[in-house]
Amino acid sequence: MVPIHDTTIAILPVHLANQIAAGEVVQRPASVVKELLENALDAGATSITVIVQQAGSKLIHVMDNGKGMHRSDVELSIVRHATSKIATEDDLHAIRTLGFRGEALASIAAVAEVEIRSRRAVDDVGTILISHPGREVVVRHQALEVGTQVVVRQLFASVPARRKFLKSDATELRHIIDAVQRAALARPDVRWLLKSESSTILDVAPADLPQRSAAVLSIERSEVASSLHEVSFSSSGIVVEGLVGAPSLARTTRSSQYLFLHGRPIVSRSLSHAIASAYEALLPTGMHPLYVLHVSIDPHRVDVNVHPQKHEVKFDNEQQVYQVVEQSVRAALQQSAVVPRMPQFQQIHPAASRSISSLPALPTAARTPSTLRDPVSPMVVREQVDLLFGRTQPEPARVFAIGSDLVGSVVQDGVMIVHVRRAHERVLYERMMERMTERDSAHTGSQALMFPVPVQLSATERQQLEELRDALEQMGYRFSLDTTPPSLTAVPQGIPGGAEQESLKALLEEVDHLGGSLGEQQLERLAALAASQQAVRSNQPRSTAVLQQIVDDLFTCSVPQVTPGGEPTYTLLTFDELYQRL
Ligand code: ADP
Ligand code: MG
Repeated sequence: MVPIHDTTIAILPVHLANQIAAGEVVQRPASVVKELLENALDAGATSITVIVQQAGSKLIHVMDNGKGMHRSDVELSIVRHATSKIATEDDLHAIRTLGFRGEALASIAAVAEVEIRSRRAVDDVGTILISHPGREVVVRHQALEVGTQVVVRQLFASVPARRKFLKSDATELRHIIDAVQRAALARPDVRWLLKSESSTILDVAPADLPQRSAAVLSIERSEVASSLHEVSFSSSGIVVEGLVGAPSLARTTRSSQYLFLHGRPIVSRSLSHAIASAYEALLPTGMHPLYVLHVSIDPHRVDVNVHPQKHEVKFDNEQQVYQVVEQSVRAALQQSAVVPRMPQFQQIHPAASRSISSLPALPTAARTPSTLRDPVSPMVVREQVDLLFGRTQPEPARVFAIGSDLVGSVVQDGVMIVHVRRAHERVLYERMMERMTERDSAHTGSQALMFPVPVQLSATERQQLEELRDALEQMGYRFSLDTTPPSLTAVPQGIPGGAEQESLKALLEEVDHLGGSLGEQQLERLAALAASQQAVRSNQPRSTAVLQQIVDDLFTCSVPQVTPGGEPTYTLLTFDELYQRL
């Protein structure tokens, strides 16, 4: 007989409830690290050490010199919704600390062995708490330094299903490193030490943001001044501060992009987009700028409580924040002259001023004198270049060689100096992109090899070669796969004799590095790499006609200002500047 009044709903035992809830906060070892770092910072620590073993699954040990906890707080700290950080609803609407939900330690304690050691300066003796999932907690006094240590052992040992979802140790360690790096960029005033097994991964003393960024992002110290540009901007009560990298520091991934709100690392599609759009014409699609930006705004105007991991935020006026962030980056780039302060194009290229009257009418915004005189925004520059050079045949500007890699050309307002190799790189890149996207191989600049070059390929390389065959042929490569080993029968023009195999392998390696399928972004990287391989070298003899051609071609490009890697291609030395020196 089926019992009618049997109750099937039961309140979960606390440790089970915690274990389920833990999934939201503790997804992987790096999330534990992140929560513990936040607690240490909230406790006012100025020195934080993280030690991990087996990428955190065996051990995560975080030590801080913060204010510590009293014995009763140590006991409470692992109880869900126990927090010292908010007390009233109003606090919740204006959060100033990194933590506030009071669930991190409880969640971690639900899925790992946790030991907390803590002492406040005012207490003579410290407290040690030992917790095992589903077991009675042990608390006792212990002589300790001021500050807190949290040791997390055997993470997810009690939840095998979760443990199975962990990626390789290498991947999990990468996430941990990322979490610590983010914290180190959020708080350059704090000393950070990260060790994995016995090796030191990060060890940085308190510094200013440029120095800290250089240390964390592996930027040469000598490059800091020239390639990290300061952002310091405030408008409508929104403050944006930090650094943006020169286009030369741009990378193929978004791994060097750090955004913080009140010191908390955040992810915001809209703000990332705002920053990217400030770089607009300076970077080809697929290249991502480097930045470390701190945003602050009245805490009442932002909600950080939308996600248990607290990295998503909502602004009351998303669009306004977008505009301020974009403006702040634009201003920094313009001030640093990364965005070339270009004069009107008539001045750069004499041909243009002559042909301007024959152009279709410019849109009003682009035609007003003020737009032409102001520091030109990349957007406007691009429009003007398109209008002035894209649809007309400029007359050649006479060029003269300066040194081994530069050519000069006297223009209306001064001397335009073009970096030949970089200009050539830009030209080749745009041509190649056109060919690859239009799939028009008829004009491919391919040079047949008199003697096919055998190429030694690994199994993966061979696989890639087959997958990439189309793209490589668009670039000018031809091969025969029937021979063993396969052989190259033609290469793109510009690849020097003897470097055929090497150039092909570099491309394959790049693709391997980029991973994934061959999307537009990959094609762009390939084109950029191929362009740099093929661009004329300074030791190659070049006739004036060739130099002339490169300069003319440069100004038919859609983004003539920089190489695909973001290096400037030309500069203008005005007569004013010249006379000032003489
Ligand atoms: P939250 O940070 O959201 O308050 P946690 O579970 O992370 O919640 O921590 C609970 C409480 O334990 C904190 O509010 C704080 O009072 C205390 N605590 C945790 N870690 C530390 C630390 N390293 N130093 C001092 N107090 C800490
Ligand atoms: Mg916390």
